[in-house]
Amino acid sequence: VLDVAWATEWVRRSAAVVGEHRMELIDLDRAIGDGDHGENLDRGFKAVLVKLDNPDTPEPESVGDVLKLVATTLMSTVGGAAGPLYGTAYLRAAKVADGATVDAAGVAALLDAAVGGIVARGKAEVGDKTMVDAWTPAAAAALEVADGGGTATQALRAAATAARTGAESTDPLVARKGRASYLGERAIGHRDPGAESSALLLAVAADVAE
Ligand code: ADP
Ligand code: MG
Ligand code: MG
Repeated sequence: VLDVAWATEWVRRSAAVVGEHRMELIDLDRAIGDGDHGENLDRGFKAVLVKLDNPDTPEPESVGDVLKLVATTLMSTVGGAAGPLYGTAYLRAAKVADGATVDAAGVAALLDAAVGGIVARGKAEVGDKTMVDAWTPAAAAALEVADGGGTATQALRAAATAARTGAESTDPLVARKGRASYLGERAIGHRDPGAESSALLLAVAADVAE
């Protein structure tokens, strides 16, 4: 099962990985958006670390506490489309995780809640070339592992693998939501930056669990 130490380490490693992939995410967003996605997320996760390390911040006691801290910080620092979308995803996940340690079914529930938040906020469907194309198959893959009696770590790994495939599946698509939708067919051949960052974050979640 996954606990507060896992969640804290996930967030720390997320900040590191977003920093490492900052330029790559900027380049993806430069191709089909306004070029700020890497910058936005890097700023957001750096702010999350500052908050975590601030002695005035109460020590998170649960997975839900950590996810809530991420949610509120991303909402106030990331801006653009991705800030509220990621913020809502983490906030809904935090509510589901609340208090409990997280088993495989918990991972599935958490990811399902995250997808629900993103969709409630952005109204995108699978195939619209957004982060939904990474999160939706990730949640489905986790549920399949949970239903098959797998572990939380296996559920996360399946989710990460599905998110990676989902992000890659955006390459040939025309975007129907967000800035990339203004480009029409010119978006074809470019990966959606938010789907890519989502796949990176879920890969870290699985890495940290293993
Ligand atoms: P902005 O487009 O405001 O500059 P970012 O560049 O930070 O914001 O984030 C862009 C990403 O947000 C896109 O790559 C896409 O994954 C995601 N996105 C945009 N609009 C939506 C939406 N309506 N639903 C889901 N995801 C969306
Ligand atoms: Mg952008
Ligand atoms: Mg922008």
